[in-house]
Amino acid sequence: MTQRRQWPVIFPSKECHMRGDTLLLRNADLLCTMNPADSSAATVRAGDNVGAEICNGGLFARGGVIEAVGPTSDLPKDADRVIDMTGHVVIPGMVNTHHHLFQNLTRAVPGGQDAPLFGWLQTLYPIWSNIGPEHIYWSTALGLAELAMSGCTTSSDHLYLYPNGARLDDSMAAATDLGVRFHGTRGSMSIGESGGGLPPDILCWNESDILEDCQRAVETLHDPSRHAMQRVALAPCSPFSVSMDLMRNSAEMARSLGVGLHTHLAENVEDIDYSLAQFGMRPGEYIEALGWTGDDVWHAHCVQLDAGEIDLFARTGTGVAHCPCSNMRLASGIAPVRQMADAGMKVGLGVDGSASNDSGHMLNEARQTMLLQRVEQGGDAMTAREALALATRGGAAVLGRDDIGMLAPGYAADIAAFDRRSINFAGSDWDPLASLLFCGPVKANHTIINGRGVVEDGQLVTMDLGHMLEKHQAMAHHLMQASGHMG
Ligand code: ZN
Repeated sequence: MTQRRQWPVIFPSKECHMRGDTLLLRNADLLCTMNPADSSAATVRAGDNVGAEICNGGLFARGGVIEAVGPTSDLPKDADRVIDMTGHVVIPGMVNTHHHLFQNLTRAVPGGQDAPLFGWLQTLYPIWSNIGPEHIYWSTALGLAELAMSGCTTSSDHLYLYPNGARLDDSMAAATDLGVRFHGTRGSMSIGESGGGLPPDILCWNESDILEDCQRAVETLHDPSRHAMQRVALAPCSPFSVSMDLMRNSAEMARSLGVGLHTHLAENVEDIDYSLAQFGMRPGEYIEALGWTGDDVWHAHCVQLDAGEIDLFARTGTGVAHCPCSNMRLASGIAPVRQMADAGMKVGLGVDGSASNDSGHMLNEARQTMLLQRVEQGGDAMTAREALALATRGGAAVLGRDDIGMLAPGYAADIAAFDRRSINFAGSDWDPLASLLFCGPVKANHTIINGRGVVEDGQLVTMDLGHMLEKHQAMAHHLMQASGHMG
């Protein structure tokens, strides 16, 4: 993609379907709705309530929206498209609440493999300085394809650097071409090295230009309607790369435009120390003072939240994107997800940037969420069902959506189906749903987004994966060569 895309006046969600476009899934070994209203069974904890688990289940959708869910025998017998789900477990498509897709161009960079957060950033910033529009397009396409192949149907992306003419539009174009539901966040960095910040100056913009481009991005790319395929949020990178004014002004602008707010918060101990030294406050106090709490706000990581901050977030409806693989990779610690959930906080899962994971596999992220809570808090700290609920409807709530994350009438036909007839699941017939997390992790066999197959029989079908890999490799090598990392 070298030419600038003129954004369509009609958003993609409206383009993809004509009336009468129907889809029928039938004969799933098990279909889990994740709709709490479906279940009257007593559960150990509210988070364990995954709604109905329907044997020989299916669903019927029209125009990308679910009309009926239930046993196959109760559903219409035919549709424009019929998929037999024999041997599969079907769940709502997973929702990734935190990512930096461009980072998949710099996975496993030797200098960043073993460093904690700040050192890791200082290794990678100079490489990222050479990113341009094509890098953004191809890395977004590849990262979203990887996510879709793991059963993810909606992804947020925190794009916080815009050198060399890169724009949020470049990532939006890739999501549209691939057919993945996308929350692009217009990130920003304004305090470079010369101002005492961490990033090199070339990756920073002045704050009035940032706000102007934020407004442009919302006005041209944000679709507020139900079942929207693309939304925009405002997302200063972190309290250590922008000023207090930009944090406050971004919050004011987001509220005036009716979009969400996102940033990194309390990721590790250095982060807390920086906040205390720089602002004389813990991160929770700092962001509360700047207007960064509320049900339109979600923060990534929050590994180091204390009890008071958990209470603040729960009271204000502020969401958290929990990223266990990244937290382990960068030795940031174990987020108190058990306590967050018990306090009634909104928690979703995120794979985080591909240079600190370095994988984009949502089912694996749910598995690691379950396992990591147990390391610190005991074998019953988190069940498979609870982790799966965080990965689906939990993420939907964090992104402020009441139209994804469940399989229910009126919800988007965003669906992940996993084939259980493989070596990974042998010997787990007694609990097909829990086996998705205890066994594997495996790739999705079918991923349907907005009623349209994006992954079918394990293959990406909306873009040519081979071509994408070639373009991506060229972009990645260009970055490394341009920054002197390769001869
Ligand atoms: Zn991040």
